[in-house]
Amino acid sequence: HKYVYDFSEGNKELKDLLGGKGANLAEMTNLGLPVPPGFTITTEACQAYLATGREPDGLAGQIEAHLEALEREMGKRLGDPQDPLLVSVRSGAKFSMPGMMETVLNVGLNDQSVVGLSAQAGGNDRFAWDSYRRLIQMFGKTVCEVPGEEFEHALDEAKHAKGTHDDLDLDAADLRGLVDAYKKIFLKHTGREFPQQPREQLDLAIRAVFESWNAERAVLYRRQERIPADLGTAVNVVTMVFGNLGPDSGTGVAFTRDPASGAQGIYGDYLANAQGEDVVAGIRNTVPLQELEQLDKTSYDELLGIMARLEEHYKDLCDIEFTIERGKLWMLQTRVGKRTAAAAFVIAGQLVDEGLIDLDEALHRVNGAQLAQLMFPRFQLDHEFQPVAKGIGASPGAASGTVVFTSARAVELAAEGKSVILVRRETNPDDLNGMIAAKGILTSRGGKTSHAAVVARGMGKTCVSGADEIEVNVPAKRFTVAGQTVTEGDVVSIDGTTGKVYLGEVPVMPSEVVQYFEGSLDPEHIDNALVRAVHRIMTHADGKRRLAVRTNADTGADAARARRFGAEGIGLCRTEHMFLGDRRELVERLILARAPGEREAALAALLPLQRADFEEIFREMDGLPVTVRLIDPPLHEFLPPLEQLAVNVAVAQERGEDVAKEEALLAAVRRMHEENPMLGLRGVRLGLVIPGLFAMQVRAIAEAAVSCARGGGVAKPEIMVPLVGAVQELETVRAEAEKIIAEVVGDSGVEVLIGTMIEVPRAALTAGQIAEAAEFFSFGTNDLTQMGWGFSRDDVEGAFFWRYLELGIFGISPFESIDRDGVGRLVRIAAEEGRAARPGLKLGICGEHGGDPDSVHFFHEVGLDYVSCSPFRVPVARLEAGRAVV
Ligand code: ADP
Ligand code: MG
Ligand code: MG
Repeated sequence: HKYVYDFSEGNKELKDLLGGKGANLAEMTNLGLPVPPGFTITTEACQAYLATGREPDGLAGQIEAHLEALEREMGKRLGDPQDPLLVSVRSGAKFSMPGMMETVLNVGLNDQSVVGLSAQAGGNDRFAWDSYRRLIQMFGKTVCEVPGEEFEHALDEAKHAKGTHDDLDLDAADLRGLVDAYKKIFLKHTGREFPQQPREQLDLAIRAVFESWNAERAVLYRRQERIPADLGTAVNVVTMVFGNLGPDSGTGVAFTRDPASGAQGIYGDYLANAQGEDVVAGIRNTVPLQELEQLDKTSYDELLGIMARLEEHYKDLCDIEFTIERGKLWMLQTRVGKRTAAAAFVIAGQLVDEGLIDLDEALHRVNGAQLAQLMFPRFQLDHEFQPVAKGIGASPGAASGTVVFTSARAVELAAEGKSVILVRRETNPDDLNGMIAAKGILTSRGGKTSHAAVVARGMGKTCVSGADEIEVNVPAKRFTVAGQTVTEGDVVSIDGTTGKVYLGEVPVMPSEVVQYFEGSLDPEHIDNALVRAVHRIMTHADGKRRLAVRTNADTGADAARARRFGAEGIGLCRTEHMFLGDRRELVERLILARAPGEREAALAALLPLQRADFEEIFREMDGLPVTVRLIDPPLHEFLPPLEQLAVNVAVAQERGEDVAKEEALLAAVRRMHEENPMLGLRGVRLGLVIPGLFAMQVRAIAEAAVSCARGGGVAKPEIMVPLVGAVQELETVRAEAEKIIAEVVGDSGVEVLIGTMIEVPRAALTAGQIAEAAEFFSFGTNDLTQMGWGFSRDDVEGAFFWRYLELGIFGISPFESIDRDGVGRLVRIAAEEGRAARPGLKLGICGEHGGDPDSVHFFHEVGLDYVSCSPFRVPVARLEAGRAVV
């Protein structure tokens, strides 16, 4: 089995096997770019090592053979006392995991070869001893787990003794002394001398890189970024080149475009007389890359040429690491660079302009999560505001408010109309009310899957989690950060996208992308690269997609907004809110009615109110389909809560007041009490039990449609019956509804469809029968998930989902993203069997999943006709529906 690949043998497509770094080093080698020679040990070797605890058979021999070939090519032997070949041993997984795993530089140095290295460098003792002390430091820390601070402390002492703060002031003798000090530290912690055998150094370093895959921080990072745990890392063995040979040497990093804004230009940092890790570690101040032009014009020009070449080759923004050794440029790394959401759109647009990619490819390069990010308001940051802490951007948005430390206080202040930020070390299910009341949530512990993060995302609330610079003291109602104390009542601002925390109130700026969607920014006439790029890519997505996108909206205002955002109809108009407010009293009368006459009177009073609601919606959605769901929740939700009512009655009786009406109400509430209301008298069951209720709603819909048509509009109502589990339920409702519709519609030309939600698992499994009585299905994936898993949606997210996520039982809440294997399978079965029974059956989905990128792709695959989501998610769904096609 082949476990080792020379750089000349690989290419950029082999990331699974060679890791990102190795695949790209191979690609650059084969492009003829100046890459120091070397080889890559595959991720398969790492997987085998991690599975069995030892190197797989054959690996040692292959490493030997490649090392010999490398030695022949370089004309030097690893660690040779006269003229040593030195190598770096670098981790590199399929997905980049910045700073998570290990790299050891200068492998091959020992007490003899350090002398040879100096001689070869023209007697540059300083350089040789500097390289040696770096090896002991990195090797000790990463391979042998010697605490890094001990080395840093010794380095500080050496500088202190010399009266300087700058590494460069240490001369050869100082560094030689430091090597001795480092060796003592190494011996003290490992119980052995620093290994002098070059090959042993190499083998131990390779093994350490394998093992770094399972380092705690790497495991955590993978969980957060949802990177599979079993990929393993490759190991790259690379000939060393030296940026620390003197002022004509150095090292740097660069981007081919600005990864923040996408702007074209040269972005990078350079550090003269240094080795690579110095730049990242921020030990010394780098200079902007442009200054390299003065220092070394030849290398600078060559670098710019290579950067242009890389962009042309990868057809994307690249980031690179390079080193200059005495005026000779070497490329040490490149990859397609990470970027902000805004830069992703801008760069995709630019690359189309430059003819490097087409619009289909541009659509690949962006995603709905990025678009969603761009639709949140942002902080308007000027120099006045510096972040005091940085946590994890757990749930996007920009929120400012008064700091509170308890759920109770959050609820209190919110009731007074204040914006509050709930600050906790971590949250737990008891904090739920406070989280609902707060504008944002800030915790000092926990990652993207902590309780705070999961619940906040579910609520669409801004959250920064794990800001560990913050020291929270709940009993004292204060936190400290960066030497400052923040007490209850002070104002902070948190950015749930970047994870940054600011003291004071940072002004908030509306999203330009939202302004564009709302129609107040014209992309053709403004000089805004982002808006133009979004416009272009969205237009292309709309042209490509097969799925229609509708919205969930219950009011004319929501409908109008969603339409501006591109909604092509309403997929779910809930009618519940039409029973609230002033109308509660009518609903009470309906429920309390003793005689048919009383009930009919209550329904007759509700009818015109409902009709007016529908008229407004049909007007806003003129010409587009509107799916109206008949009332779904249990009726007692519209009555006062039992305890409160009981207390009121008791108090009133005490005072000797007449409580006949309240007592009747109380009795009704008692009668209707359910242990499990979500599985009780709701949806179609309600319609079958309360005479006239559905009939009134059907009549209101039909009359509104007719009145709309009479006014010259086009109403396309689709009546949706909720919670159907058996075709007989639907047939009963249908028979009554058809009579009313026929009577109301007459010859007005209005057409009313009747269909059902598929949200009870039994409905999905008997979809063939149900389709006989339904002109359309709309998957209610919230209830289908709730009933499919047996998870009470209102309870489980806060109660234990964090634990399920931590254990990896699922990677994301099934309420957030469709569970393809289980709930998704129900959708698939129902779609197939429904269509088989009734060709042309219209299929849609109206759960929260309609606006979730992954779920949109699934619904496309299953062949639904449309997805429906909240107005704000409509653009996201449009984009993802387009991406699902290309
Ligand atoms: P990371 O993945 O954390 O960036 P790298 O493997 O890229 O780690 O290495 C860390 C630093 O060491 C980088 O700055 C890199 O440029 C430098 N480096 C790695 N290999 C060599 C080498 N063969 N010669 C010189 N510098 C190197
Ligand atoms: Mg690197
Ligand atoms: Mg439902």
